[in-house]
Amino acid sequence: MGRLAGKNAVITGAAGGIGLETSILFAKEGANVLMTDISQEALDRALAKVKQLVPGAGKVETKLCDVSKEPDVSAAVTHLDAWGGLDVIFNNAGIMHARDDDALNTPEAIWDLTHNINVKGVWFGCKHAVLALRRHNKTKGSIINTASVVALVGSATPQLAYTASKGAVLALTRELAIVHAREGFRFNSLCPAPLNTPLLQDWLGDDVAKRQRREVHFPTGRFGEAVEQAQAVVFLASDESSFVNGTDFVVDGGMSKAYVTPEGPAAKAPV
Ligand code: NAD
Repeated sequence: MGRLAGKNAVITGAAGGIGLETSILFAKEGANVLMTDISQEALDRALAKVKQLVPGAGKVETKLCDVSKEPDVSAAVTHLDAWGGLDVIFNNAGIMHARDDDALNTPEAIWDLTHNINVKGVWFGCKHAVLALRRHNKTKGSIINTASVVALVGSATPQLAYTASKGAVLALTRELAIVHAREGFRFNSLCPAPLNTPLLQDWLGDDVAKRQRREVHFPTGRFGEAVEQAQAVVFLASDESSFVNGTDFVVDGGMSKAYVTPEGPAAKAPV
């Protein structure tokens, strides 16, 4: 029996990065998983990887879902009605456009696109999860929304639309956590720091020096890995976190807690 045995889950942005690693761990822990994203080709590749790594998995299926379109999100959640209804949704899909996007230079179209996916998409996921949990008379449910550490500390590299959108995710998650707590529905935000996924790779390109300049400011001296986020999501989705509600769950190797000089933190306290 896995830690998520019998739970039915929707994961958005499941074709790569954090979403794919979470799909793999959810399947390993006994959940039935609907992997959703915007490219069927990418979903097919991701599904093949899950099936290869977790041969004894329960139901693992894919469905196209653009989270900025409410009918898509509704259809993804409703797909689980035939499985006994949704128990968990991981609203993870997100985009980042960081091209010196400060207050003066952020294109309005980028602001709107970013908020449509990163904020409205999360709202739609939360809304349809609550409707499904009620439809199936569930007395517990876990909703996990991907935010970012930039929502807590800001970013010196201008990415205003992204940072603002992730701040909104924290705020809406907290409010829903309070409103639905007595129904047994928990809402938590995941706050990753920069980690090795296609999203970060798109931003850094092949610039090794740029990557190193950023990694030295991590207490750990490295970016995180998607699987390290997925491990936290398993905890938040499972009943082990039954009293964890409304948190900004930070998985950042300590990055948001201190400014680290290029020399790095002291290996041990001076005697
Ligand atoms: P990723 O690019 O590997 O994955 C994001 C997925 O979302 C992709 O598969 C993409 O196709 C999908 N997607 C994009 N637009 C979509 C839409 N409209 N509807 C549905 N799916 C859509 O990146 P990732 O790093 O795994 O990102 C996952 C989440 O983590 C995002 O919300 C991102 O903002 C957040 N995050 C990432 C980092 C990082 O450094 N990688 C840090 C903090 C937060």
